[in-house]
Amino acid sequence: MRAFFIYLSKLQWMRGLILKLAFARKASRRFVAGETAQAAIEAVRQLNRQNILATLDHLGEDVHTEADARSACDDYVRLLDLIHQSGVLSHVSLKLTQFGLDVSGDLCCELVASVTEKAAQVGTFVRIDMEDSSHIERTLAVYRDMRRKYSNIGIVVQAYLYRTEGDIKRLVNDGIATVRLVKGAYKEPSSVAFPRKADVDANMVKLMQFMLGDEARAHGAHLAMATHDVKMIEATNKFVAEHNISKDAFEFQMLYGIRRDLQQQLAAEGYKMRVYVPYGNEWYPYFMRRLAERPANIWFILSNFFRP
Ligand SMILES: Cc1cc2nc3c(=O)[nH]c(=O)nc-3n(C[C@H](O)[C@H](O)[C@H](O)COP(=O)(O)OP(=O)(O)OC[C@H]3O[C@@H](n4cnc5c(N)ncnc54)[C@H](O)[C@@H]3O)c2cc1C
Repeated sequence: MRAFFIYLSKLQWMRGLILKLAFARKASRRFVAGETAQAAIEAVRQLNRQNILATLDHLGEDVHTEADARSACDDYVRLLDLIHQSGVLSHVSLKLTQFGLDVSGDLCCELVASVTEKAAQVGTFVRIDMEDSSHIERTLAVYRDMRRKYSNIGIVVQAYLYRTEGDIKRLVNDGIATVRLVKGAYKEPSSVAFPRKADVDANMVKLMQFMLGDEARAHGAHLAMATHDVKMIEATNKFVAEHNISKDAFEFQMLYGIRRDLQQQLAAEGYKMRVYVPYGNEWYPYFMRRLAERPANIWFILSNFFRP
């Protein structure tokens, strides 16, 4: 089921069809804050009222022309102005294929630098999301390039990949491990990723412990533990308590619309909680990946179809 939905997420004709369906658009609102930046800022404002921070993502990926990449960059610069003017507490998250990674590496670096520079001016932070494994090497290269000039930028690493332990160790050694740790949302072959969920979970715990350990923190490592999995959250809280690590030395992150109860509970317990808030009209692939993660969401979609 998971593989099937990830496969669908890549089909352009399916995207065209689903985007036109009113009930699908309505259902997408469970995971997407709206189609405009204003709607997303309002969603962030509501989260901030509950002591929850945010990271805003203007949905888009797989851009194939320079003009589209430049337009995505302009949208982010406007979004950063809006964050500043509205006073909401939010970072931004972006995908490098939206910034022309598949068009030209130099173009991508130029555009991400513009956004990061702008984020620095308005006192906020940029997170580079991680996409499928064919983009990892180039994504890490862009990140390393940005870190030579900026400190307000971080990266995502995926616990399902065999290579991630080595990647994290290199980032720590180089003093640039500002990392969001996730399980991984794409369909990857067993040659690059653990096929069994139990192994992904065990690796996530191992990487969390390494990132929060003395050695990594002495090298300036910062962890954003991004998961809705109660077992992962409990393992983190246990490790933090046992090693007397302060609650503000790391943060939890979750996706908009998923486990709101847990988001509020962790914030109320004094943990730093940040929610990833996607918006825009390019919601199709993001939405399909959320369905892939939890087949029960399909019933939720169908119920929207029958609701007036
Ligand atoms: C802030 C954030 C940023 C992310 N950025 C990236 C990225 O850059 N690259 C990348 O590859 N992946 C990213 N992901 C997605 C991630 O890789 C996983 O696919 C996703 O988080 C599901 O894994 P899980 O850790 O929640 O654990 P799981 O074991 O998948 O789920 C644990 C529990 O969480 C709940 N849950 C999980 N997913 C859903 C869902 N879709 N709908 C409803 N309930 C759900 C269910 O209760 C489930 O039992 C991100 C996730 C988060 C939270």
